[in-house]
Amino acid sequence: MSEVDVIVLGAGAAGLMCALTAAERGRRVLVLEKSNKVGKKILMSGGGRCNFTNYDVTAENYICSNPHFAKAALQRYSSWDFIHLVESHNIAFEERRHGQLFCLNSAKDILTMLLDECHQVGVEIQTDSDVSRLDARAGGQGFALEVNQLGQTQTFHCDSLVVATGALSIPTLGGSDMGYEIARQFGLSLVDRRAGLVPLMFSDAMKLLCEQLSGLALEVDISCNGYAFTENLLFTHRGISGPAVLQISNYWHPGDAITVDLLPNLDATDWLLSAKSAQSKSYLKTLLGQSLAKSLVAALGKLFWLQWEDKVMADIPDSELRRIAQQLHAWVLKPSASEGYRTAEVTLGGVCTDEVSSKTMEARQQSGLYFIGEVLDVSGHLGGFNFQWAWSSGYSAGLVV
Ligand SMILES: Cc1cc2nc3c(=O)[nH]c(=O)nc-3n(C[C@H](O)[C@H](O)[C@H](O)COP(=O)(O)OP(=O)(O)OC[C@H]3O[C@@H](n4cnc5c(N)ncnc54)[C@H](O)[C@@H]3O)c2cc1C
Repeated sequence: MSEVDVIVLGAGAAGLMCALTAAERGRRVLVLEKSNKVGKKILMSGGGRCNFTNYDVTAENYICSNPHFAKAALQRYSSWDFIHLVESHNIAFEERRHGQLFCLNSAKDILTMLLDECHQVGVEIQTDSDVSRLDARAGGQGFALEVNQLGQTQTFHCDSLVVATGALSIPTLGGSDMGYEIARQFGLSLVDRRAGLVPLMFSDAMKLLCEQLSGLALEVDISCNGYAFTENLLFTHRGISGPAVLQISNYWHPGDAITVDLLPNLDATDWLLSAKSAQSKSYLKTLLGQSLAKSLVAALGKLFWLQWEDKVMADIPDSELRRIAQQLHAWVLKPSASEGYRTAEVTLGGVCTDEVSSKTMEARQQSGLYFIGEVLDVSGHLGGFNFQWAWSSGYSAGLVV
């Protein structure tokens, strides 16, 4: 039997940040990781460059049943704190659109930094370790864990147990429901979970259209249920993806319609009506081809202006041009489903934040038990917000465990 002060379950972003923060305070910390490698999602993130935070992080960038929950942790450990840590390790990074910060070289730089920090303060990390039994010890004396490591059973005791097991997205990168099971075991409630930051699919004629346009990307305004983003939309052979779609997927539920403005930077009615006099001999499709890809114009033409396909602008009534303009500004799509946890970047929902302290991440009903990172009902927009939540919540718990 081994005795430590703190056990962190999960060597991902939140778990490593919590571990190094607690060990810096002199706590003896053991991180137990189920898979054979640590930080798999960090390595895969941001297309291999890890979008590790954002210059402009506020609680509004997060989806949570309690919109105020994330504030305290984001204040306690802000994006600037993480940027300073990255700078202190001489990691080169760059700012991309919307204040997103990415490594210039590799996401591995971020994982190496976290592991170096853990090493310096004596954090012990054990991989291939699966918890087979967990009990709270009598009289609030911490926790007893039975752990299976490659067929060997080990027993550990700890004062504080931190659940940083992440969520359901991408099972091959460690996605697991262990955190929810521990929450249930100790009587915490869960907010319904579903895939977030995920591509959307179609089962109707749109599926064929997407297949035909697969690989085409364009900037759009996309909106659903009162939320809107201006980003790139990408057609794929299954449906639609790209940053615009991933962002709006967080607000989409099966059955909902999504509205896409294909020409967010111009007034299509003005444009088409003035073109009717200025370029009266041009074909509609030629004109539209000045602002949209020809393949998209051809596909949309079949749907919305078949009878005007071979007409010059002068022959198309103003009322029709207005209708076509409206169609381009508000293309209504009804996805049949999301691609689900297989490709989702995050899981929406999770451990209910009403049952967890926003300052320390400690469960209100079970002293010494903490939940951090994505296992909680806190999910960020695309843009480095999910890692920032992992750093902020991990740090907040690391200060008190
Ligand atoms: C492909 C992809 C790209 C992404 N890119 C970005 C990005 O660029 N920027 C951004 O902000 N966010 C990004 N995200 C989201 C981000 O990776 C997560 O929000 C973040 O990793 C959550 O941190 P976490 O520590 O809570 O969970 P994780 O990082 O998932 O870590 C959880 C760890 O717990 C381990 N584990 C699971 N079950 C157990 C168990 N029973 N016992 C012990 N260990 C267990 C897992 O193996 C894993 O190592 C991306 C996600 C994906 C899938």
